[in-house]
Formats: sequence, structure tokens, C-alpha cells
Amino acid sequence: MNESDILILDSIDKFLERDVRPHVLELEQNDIYPEAIVEKMKALGLFGAMIPVEYGGLGLKATLYAEIVERIASVWMTLAGVFNSHLIMATAVLRYGTEAQKKTFLPRFATGELRGGLALTEADGGTDLQAIRTTAKRDGDAYVVNGSKSWITNGAEGSCFALLVKTDPKAEPRSRGISLLLAEKGPGFHVDKKLKKLGYRGVDTVEMHFEDYRIPADRLIGGKEGKGLNHALSGLEIGRINVAARGVGVARAAFEEALAYAQIRKTFGKPIAQHQAIQLKLADMATRVEAARLLTKKAAEAFDAGERCDMEVGMAKLFASEAALENSLEAMRIHGAYGYSKEFNLERYYRDAPLLAIGEGTNEIQRLVIAKQLVERNPV
Ligand SMILES: Cc1cc2nc3c(=O)[nH]c(=O)nc-3n(C[C@H](O)[C@H](O)[C@H](O)COP(=O)(O)OP(=O)(O)OC[C@H]3O[C@@H](n4cnc5c(N)ncnc54)[C@H](O)[C@@H]3O)c2cc1C
Repeated sequence: MNESDILILDSIDKFLERDVRPHVLELEQNDIYPEAIVEKMKALGLFGAMIPVEYGGLGLKATLYAEIVERIASVWMTLAGVFNSHLIMATAVLRYGTEAQKKTFLPRFATGELRGGLALTEADGGTDLQAIRTTAKRDGDAYVVNGSKSWITNGAEGSCFALLVKTDPKAEPRSRGISLLLAEKGPGFHVDKKLKKLGYRGVDTVEMHFEDYRIPADRLIGGKEGKGLNHALSGLEIGRINVAARGVGVARAAFEEALAYAQIRKTFGKPIAQHQAIQLKLADMATRVEAARLLTKKAAEAFDAGERCDMEVGMAKLFASEAALENSLEAMRIHGAYGYSKEFNLERYYRDAPLLAIGEGTNEIQRLVIAKQLVERNPV
């Protein structure tokens, strides 16, 4: 880690202690969009974290990005979701966009002037994205979009989305008929209800629908139809590194609070940290945090080296999200009744963690990716 990395991490730590930590309980419990915090995140350059410097971003390596996400998630996991899908959209433009698209969109994404995310999921198409029904029909120099999307994070507050559509609903294989459009809000683009969630509160996750919504044809990422699924999924590697790092952050926060509490809380004349049953839990929790962090670091290093890393990223996402789930439950047990109280952080970790096992490809899907790669990389 060089000096500039240390300075960046230092400014993140200061921001978290000064601008985030004191407000989390109130914002989270009332499901309030953290507008003032998002403005500070813009100033810190987080919306351009992975966008190259030539387009106005910070051009961070994935290893440093993962460190930042871990720190943010250890204070409030939701905040890492405000820029995650935004950066996946930016990755699709960076990797596959035309020169004009890169010049038009990336600098505005980097400053956060234009913010948004990914609009892939529909009522009948989550894991199976090829089952989406939203269509985009070419009409002169525009596409006319009709259909609906659900579970779209940043959908109300954001203004631009990488929108997955069928440009050829009859194509076989189905993937050949799927394209990705850069959709800025305008007439015919409707945001419907904000969804109520178990955790991951504060950030907006919505349903949206499109009614004869026209998008200029030059907003088709890469300019060629039929490549959208590939474009959308390629950005998921950095999305999965984000989710893995969030898992490390939540698992660590739960562990650290449990470790501190176990030394203060006394039963039968001694701190509970001296009861062997509690020691076993603490040991397992600490080991999970370390292992999750190392897997995440390894995945991020492979990403930075430009190596194929779907297996490494899948392992990190799978392990770190399960670590967050297990540690949040164990920390709650160690806190006894206090773990169940709305006045402390513990119950939030327990509500936030399950999302990590669902988002950016469920953990069942990560296992399938890992197994496929194991066989492919180890032919007999
Ligand atoms: C809070 C939140 C925010 C979200 N934000 C966004 C967003 O910003 N943009 C967006 O596009 N989407 C978003 N999503 C949607 C998310 O990506 C999907 O929920 C996820 O991809 C799973 O899809 P699904 O819910 O339709 O589950 P399904 O695909 O119906 O899966 C149900 C179950 O079946 C399993 N399963 C499915 N297929 C297989 C298979 N082939 N083999 C084994 N098991 C399988 C799954 O693992 C899961 O356990 C969000 C979801 C949540 C909860």
C-alpha cells in the first residue's frame, strides 16, 4: 500500500466517524435516504472509484476498493450499495461502450452528477435473466421500450440505468436477443413503488415500468444488439468483490462488538469471555473474518492482474457473505437480550447480512460457478 492509498483510507475513516456513524441508527430505522452522506460520498470521489483517471475517476485498484468497501460496510452496509451497481454500470460502458459513450457518460458518472445503477431483474427473471420480458423495438433513430423491472436499487434517487432489454424476443439462444441500454429518466420511464425491506434500508430499491419510453439508438452499449447479457454480467465481477468486501465489513463489525461486550458482561462472577462456550464462538468468528478478508484480497488481486477470476470472486462472495450471516447471529447470541434491541447495531447486522447471500448472484449460483471452473481448470 502506498502513501496515497493510506491517505485515501484515512479520509474514508474520518468521513465514517464524523459523518456516518452518529446518524446510522436514525436513518436506518426510519428508512431515510442519506442525502447529506451521499453528497459527501460524491466529494470523496466514491462514484468514480473504479473509473480511470482519464475519465475523471479515482482509478483505484480493486484491492484498495475492497478495503474501502469493507470499512464502509463495517459502519453502515447500505452505503456500499449506493455506488456498487452505479460502478457496475460504469464498468459496462468502460469495457464495451463506444468512444462517444465513454466520453459522454464516464466523466458524469465519476463525479456522481449522473448516478444510477443496474436495471436487470424483473418479476419473472432474476437468476434467469434470459427470461426478461422488457422489450426495446427499433423505431428510426430510437428504441421504444415497454415492460417493467423490480428490485432496482438507486431506482428513485438515481437518474441513469443500465437497462437490460430484449431487442429480439424470438432469438435462439435467448441471450442473442438481449441488449443493454443506457437509460436516462424521461417521458415514459416511471418509478413505481419503493419496496419495503428487511434490511439494507436507507437506499431506495424500487419497481419501475416503461411505457413507450424512447431512448436514442446511440445509447445501446457498444452499438451492437445481442451483447447485453455478456455486458451486464461482466461487471458483476467487481460487483461481487464489493459484496464480498461488504461481507467482511459486517462480519468484522459483529465480531468486534461481540469481543468487546464479552469482556464487559459478567455472569456467575466473571466476564462471559471467560466461559468456554463464548470463547469457542469468538474464535470461530475471528477466523471467519480473517479467511473472508484473505479470499476477498486474493480475488481483488486476480482482478487487478487482469486474470480470469470468476472462481476466486465467487469463492470470496460466497464465503464472506456466509461469514456475515453467521457472525451477525453469533454476535446476537453473545449479546443476549441487548442483541435483540433496536438501540444497538447488532440487530441491523442480522437484518443486513442475508442480502449479501442473494445480491450479485445468489450463493447457490456462486457454488455452480466455482464447480464449473474447478472442472474446467482441472481436466483429467
Ligand atoms: C435488496 C435487493 C436489492 C436488489 N437490487 C437490484 C438491482 O439494483 N438491480 C437488479 O437488477 N436486481 C436487483 N436485485 C435483484 C437480485 O439481483 C435478485 O433477487 C437475484 O438475482 C435473485 O433473483 P430472484 O430473486 O428472482 O430469485 P430466483 O432467481 O427466483 O431464485 C430463487 C432461488 O432459486 C435458486 N436458483 C435459481 N436458479 C438456480 C439454478 N440454476 N440452480 C440452483 N439454484 C437456483 C436461487 O439461488 C434462489 O435460492 C435486488 C434484490 C434485493 C433483495
